[in-house]
Amino acid sequence: MRGDLLSRFQASTNGRFRLRDHDPAWDGGAQTKEHAASQVDRNHQRLYESQELLWASGTHSVLIVLQAMDTAGKDGLIKHVMTGLNPQGCDVWGFKVPSAREQQHDFLWRYSMALPARGSFGIFNRSYYEEVLVVRVHPEFLAKQGSADHHSLWTERYEEINDFEKHLARNGTAIVKFFLHLSKKEQRKRLLERLNEPAKHWKFSAADLAERQYWPEYMTAYEDAIAATSTKHAPWYILPADHKWVARWLASEILIATVKQLKLKLPPVSKQQRAAITAAKRELGK
Ligand code: AMP
Ligand code: MG
Repeated sequence: MRGDLLSRFQASTNGRFRLRDHDPAWDGGAQTKEHAASQVDRNHQRLYESQELLWASGTHSVLIVLQAMDTAGKDGLIKHVMTGLNPQGCDVWGFKVPSAREQQHDFLWRYSMALPARGSFGIFNRSYYEEVLVVRVHPEFLAKQGSADHHSLWTERYEEINDFEKHLARNGTAIVKFFLHLSKKEQRKRLLERLNEPAKHWKFSAADLAERQYWPEYMTAYEDAIAATSTKHAPWYILPADHKWVARWLASEILIATVKQLKLKLPPVSKQQRAAITAAKRELGK
């Protein structure tokens, strides 16, 4: 199933991608919610082992890019899927509206500063993709970046993102990009829950409602960005997100498969090191 998952939910890398070919309400086929949750639990141990190997081998890092509309479940996915990892060796970065200082630099600067070091997992809760998503929907951000909305700007940015990711991949970063695909109808339901349940009031932001009005513009921006940037070395996975447990289960399986593909090995022990180990044992009377 794992190999199938990789290809089934991966956006095509031939430049053609349509959101309407992906059902946000897919419910796991024959999978039940309970079974999927138990798989996620079981995978915690596997991910932890992958992380140990990543750390010990010291040759690669893993960058997880999470993109979605508001309420799609990015934070919950991080909590449920990444629980069990050693915090030393896993960084989570949430990217919000850039600061004045960040706007003084090129559009990839603040993201490059946060990239995971070799041996580590890095999670980008929103990412440089916002530079072709929210910034495209609200081009007024461009002025602060010293840029103007000319007709080839977005294709140039896609190209720059592809080059950036190719550079990272060649330098040992495994890149996994998840789009949590939520329907507009399910977003309405989740926003209403935030409004109607006092315990969820803190999660409500009026800005979410404002952005919801731009739903078609966001979908076009996502579709174009994913079509232009789904590559072999940095694939996009389209995770059905109307059922939170589906997205979490798929993300957990895909992550394990991705690390497995790196074929990591413990570093070889040199002759001198072996001799030092024997000497140390002797010294400790063993
Ligand atoms: P949230 O992740 O929901 O807490 O909100 C973060 C907010 O920051 C969202 O409204 C994003 O659209 C916004 N944001 C993230 N990155 C950028 C960016 N590069 N330019 C402008 N707004 C951004
Ligand atoms: Mg939000």
